[in-house]
Amino acid sequence: MKIYNLILIGLLFSVCACTQTPSKKTIIKKPTNVILLIADGTGLSQISSAFFYKDSTPNYARFKNIGLIKTSSSQQLITDSAAGATAFACGIKTYNGAIAVADDSTHVKTLIELVAPKNIKTGLIATSSITHATPASFFAHSSSRNNAQEIASYLPKSSIDFFAAGGIKHFNKRDDKQDLLETFVQNGVHIDTTALATFSSIKSFSKAGYLLAEDHMKSVTNGRGDFLSKATNLGIEFLSKDTDNPNFFLMVEGSQVDWAGHSNDGDYLVSELIDFDDAVGIALDFAEKDGNTLVVVTADHETGGFTLGSTAKKTAEGKAYNDYNELNMMFSTHGHSATLVPVFAYGPGSENFKGVYENTAIFDKIMEVTAWNK
Ligand code: MG
Ligand code: ZN
Repeated sequence: MKIYNLILIGLLFSVCACTQTPSKKTIIKKPTNVILLIADGTGLSQISSAFFYKDSTPNYARFKNIGLIKTSSSQQLITDSAAGATAFACGIKTYNGAIAVADDSTHVKTLIELVAPKNIKTGLIATSSITHATPASFFAHSSSRNNAQEIASYLPKSSIDFFAAGGIKHFNKRDDKQDLLETFVQNGVHIDTTALATFSSIKSFSKAGYLLAEDHMKSVTNGRGDFLSKATNLGIEFLSKDTDNPNFFLMVEGSQVDWAGHSNDGDYLVSELIDFDDAVGIALDFAEKDGNTLVVVTADHETGGFTLGSTAKKTAEGKAYNDYNELNMMFSTHGHSATLVPVFAYGPGSENFKGVYENTAIFDKIMEVTAWNK
């Protein structure tokens, strides 16, 4: 009887405890760093190819919080990379070809321009020229993505602390005869046009930039090597070097998955996708150790209408069939497509990236979860 009473009292107590509203508010951890990795032109089938063609488990498999974005631009059902990147960089829908400008061509502040005054370091890495649409939308403003020289002129005066990509000629072989490589030096940016350095050799510089090709970086199949992973690692080390202020935003673009889609070249596509996945791994490894880093991986749109189909064969009797054990990389267009593209998020704030939403919400969510909009 005594034990029975005790159990009753215990039960009653626990019920009361449960129904009471918790006095302490759940504290949601804010990320202090954000690494946004964009694989240009990468839909679900492109990502899926890593699961069939990469020798190891793809880093895409390490995410738990996954969403989908709608990518249409303000004036076209199918976006291009300029409007797609402007959605991420500025949080607005604009017309295809626009670099961080609105429909009426007015300049819209980019995430980098918004956070730099808050003492947050910023970096950009791409396997294209730094002036190409995706990276350009984070630091320049132009009514057209084709104005590479105009876009380049924004970089030496920008607040960006670290960059690595191609595009030397847009800085030193210009119609206006200016040598912007000199301007970088005058503005205190350490510029290297030969190779990525070790972190210890650039640690003391306040800003560092790498322009490692006249125009775009080579493809992986033509010998680019592990530039993207190395640059991602170096960028993270450089941007987080000040222990008293390790806050940073880094954008990393696998630019050429898109170009492989345009040329309907499956082998090119897979090699670029696997290279991008390696860079995702570098970002995730850092985020796991750091604990304060939000990693967001997405794409501006899909390119090529890519699919992993089966191979059409014929039996000895001449009967047509599909061999479900032999993949056939197929494309349905040489352009972009309107398909929704996936978003993968890891780290503090990553649960906010679940669901189906517009591409502009990537900007909104980053600014919100970090409180950089405050
Ligand atoms: Mg791009
Ligand atoms: Zn494209």
